[in-house]
Amino acid sequence: MIVVENLHKHFGGFHAVDGASLEIAEESITGLIGPNGAGKSTLFNVIAGVLNPTSGSVTMAGEDITGLEPHELFHRGLLRTFQIAHEFSSMSVRENLMMVPAGQSGETLWNAWFSRGRVAGEERALARKADDVLEFLTIDHLADEKAGNLSGGQKKLLELGRTMMVDAKIVFLDEVGAGVNRTLLNTIGDAIVRLNRERGYTFCLIEHDMDFIARLCDPVIVMAEGKVLAEGSAERIMENEAVIEAYLGT
Ligand code: ADP
Ligand code: MG
Repeated sequence: MIVVENLHKHFGGFHAVDGASLEIAEESITGLIGPNGAGKSTLFNVIAGVLNPTSGSVTMAGEDITGLEPHELFHRGLLRTFQIAHEFSSMSVRENLMMVPAGQSGETLWNAWFSRGRVAGEERALARKADDVLEFLTIDHLADEKAGNLSGGQKKLLELGRTMMVDAKIVFLDEVGAGVNRTLLNTIGDAIVRLNRERGYTFCLIEHDMDFIARLCDPVIVMAEGKVLAEGSAERIMENEAVIEAYLGT
């Protein structure tokens, strides 16, 4: 579904991504791991249109998407999750979800918010959709809670929920488990697996928690120093000499 070829992202003379090539198969849950500073987040940001690559290409279903803007990728169903922006922390969880379809399509989020009452029927449909999403994620009891009051893990679920408000095809999750307690991490993991199996979502996730990766991801891609070092099942990866060395070296 996604093919990355010989991708470079340089910051001045520093090669954060240094000739990375990889593929993400449709309907896979692909894991991306590697030591700190390996270039994982930079690679995500280039694929998701947040950063322009220095060179190399990214294709989606055979079409060149290199350097497209995030909102253009959004229309193609390629989404990267983002932390709930400060401005939205005083809005309810439901309202945060309802803003997504208009909010990321290239209009400013504030325009989307101020025009939200324009078509009442549309708004009701959006609210219903938001409630379905919350139920799917088992956080329907938080619908009227201010987003700012959520725990770290609940915020991650809301981030995942935002991708469900539109017809996402592939979702990039950067360290969804960071600072999240075990119970919520399992809820997030279950939601990812169900979205994958029941709705055909493809995922690519960066994560440090190897148990989480091993439970969810196949294949797992390992990056080190801006390049892809290895790829395979979590089991094979964990006994790969070069991978062990890359981790020990940091
Ligand atoms: P990872 O997510 O694998 O930990 P990153 O992609 O965040 O790694 O970073 C890779 C390297 O690129 C790091 O050494 C980081 O300091 C550097 N880097 C990331 N973003 C920038 C930037 N905007 N300017 C300069 N260096 C950066
Ligand atoms: Mg990172």
